[in-house]
Amino acid sequence: MSTATPQKFEFQAEIKQLLDIVIHSLYTEKEIFVRELVSNASDALEKLRHTQLTEKEIHDDKLALEINLTTDDKAKTLTIQDYGIGMTRDELVENLGTIAHSGSKAFLKALGEGDQKNANLIGQFGVGFYSAFMVAKSVKVYSHSWKTGEPGHVWSSDGSGSYEIEETEGLSRGSKIVIELKDDCAEYATDGRIKEILERYSAFVSFPVNLNGKHINTVQALWLRSKNEIKDEEYNEFYKFQAHAYEDPSLRLHFSADAPLAINALLFVPQENTEKMGMSRLEPSVSLYCRKVLIDAAPKDLLPEWLRFLKGVVDSEDLPLNISRETMQDKALIEKLNKVITKRFLKFLDEEATSRPESFTKFYADFGIFLKEGAALDFTHKDQLVKLLRFESSLTDKTKSTSLADYVTRMGADQKEIYYLVGGNRTVIESGPYLEAFKARNLEVLFCYEPVDEYVMNNVREFDGKKLIAADHGDVKLTDLPKAEGALSEADTKTLTTWLKESLGERVAEVKASDRLVDSPALAINADKFMSAHMRRMMKAMNKDGADVPQRVNLEINPRAAVMKRLFETHTAAPEKAKLVAEQILDNALISAGMLEDATPMVARLYKLLESV
Ligand code: ADP
Ligand code: MG
Repeated sequence: MSTATPQKFEFQAEIKQLLDIVIHSLYTEKEIFVRELVSNASDALEKLRHTQLTEKEIHDDKLALEINLTTDDKAKTLTIQDYGIGMTRDELVENLGTIAHSGSKAFLKALGEGDQKNANLIGQFGVGFYSAFMVAKSVKVYSHSWKTGEPGHVWSSDGSGSYEIEETEGLSRGSKIVIELKDDCAEYATDGRIKEILERYSAFVSFPVNLNGKHINTVQALWLRSKNEIKDEEYNEFYKFQAHAYEDPSLRLHFSADAPLAINALLFVPQENTEKMGMSRLEPSVSLYCRKVLIDAAPKDLLPEWLRFLKGVVDSEDLPLNISRETMQDKALIEKLNKVITKRFLKFLDEEATSRPESFTKFYADFGIFLKEGAALDFTHKDQLVKLLRFESSLTDKTKSTSLADYVTRMGADQKEIYYLVGGNRTVIESGPYLEAFKARNLEVLFCYEPVDEYVMNNVREFDGKKLIAADHGDVKLTDLPKAEGALSEADTKTLTTWLKESLGERVAEVKASDRLVDSPALAINADKFMSAHMRRMMKAMNKDGADVPQRVNLEINPRAAVMKRLFETHTAAPEKAKLVAEQILDNALISAGMLEDATPMVARLYKLLESV
């Protein structure tokens, strides 16, 4: 049926409700209507492209697949034209007069569930076509379907409850939307303002977008092209544009997947970790697209927190175009995307580590801290992450590192645990008292230099079924070494440790003979179950509560050491002097362990000892 005179229609009740909210909201980001209309135009072109594959007769078949915007600041109008699929009369009624379509329906549903006047939702949902009424006095849609036999029509409305449709001659294929702007929205009739909006939201629309005759979206949707067609420079240019970066990226992963979700992703690792350089915490910034249309430039849950250093684009055809930022959080779809992309990126890093170790080492030096964060906190990806961790060890050269997997291959048949030591640097750990016992037994110890390492190791707990154990932990049990010649007898050692405990009193929790000591005469071990020595040092440095609690220390002595043999003789012969020596031995052990908190009493004591020489 066609009519030559305009026909008036009432909007469906839900549309009236929607329009009422859209028109009366004071929503500040009104500019999103441009994104919505351009994305509709892009959809219409995409549909036409598909139709062309199967249909032979298409109205205006030669017209280019492009989107043209024109501004007229005198008349205060903005026009958005596409040569897409267009709409027949019935389609105009169905699509622009009822709530049959996705985005607006979801919007109304969300409104129904929450705050009636939450205008924020407009920005999140876009509300599609109707968002034009935020800025429009009136909207005219000239549309001609791709179907050859159909006449063209103009649909018009001021958004107040009804619309008109009138048949019109001479339209080319597609839709032309003419927006007559409200007086306070005249900015959207200026070239500069629309250009700025288009650059923000529509840079990667895959069809040419022209504004007043000038091509705007020169950046192509690179991620949808095939990998082997893309030059490095193109990737780099895109990265710089997208991440607002000045340098080339240090790593890049371009992949696509079909199952379980259709994904095209292009991810970049920047050159520098600005967080490590002391700048503010990074915000997630991998953008989410659906068929080249930007859904959200910085979605929070697309990737796990610890991947916040990544830049780039994820495009999934499976997303509804009008998905909202708010509902994204509980969207199973986003969770699925998150899992697929994270797993793939971790696999990429693993491949990088095996096939290009130097590149991985460089990456690890800058961004390893994020992997540690993930290993400690992200249970879902922990196993993959722990494999990527690297440490120097008592068996590696300085600056060379090992993975836990390599450590395990070097473990002896009866070694059950993985040992590590936390300390400021290699020298501190190597000159400390704990390492020698492990060295003497050929046990490899991982060296951890970063303050977070202790926390990470505690959370990771085990690898490949083997517990991660701090080598300075009181509970470490080591096998006996062959008895050395000339050591104190067991009975004498017992006498000496009992005497030491008595004479050191509250300063030590326990004194015993050590199975860890090879050369050093004594060793101090933190005996506080709740606070490691390292944690205690950090708390002291930060002036935190808890550092005032008296420290609990076990003293372990080496019955083979000359000092101990001498002390055994002196403790009965010259008890006064022996007591001073005992105190000094404890202080020495505390110094080696980095646990001596007050050195003042030591100075006076040393003078006393020197007097007696
Ligand atoms: P959505 O895009 O989520 O479907 P919109 O409110 O943006 O919701 O658009 C409603 C419907 O109107 C679309 O689904 C489409 O069928 C139709 N439509 C809107 N703009 C155009 C256009 N430029 N060309 C053809 N059809 C369009
Ligand atoms: Mg839309």
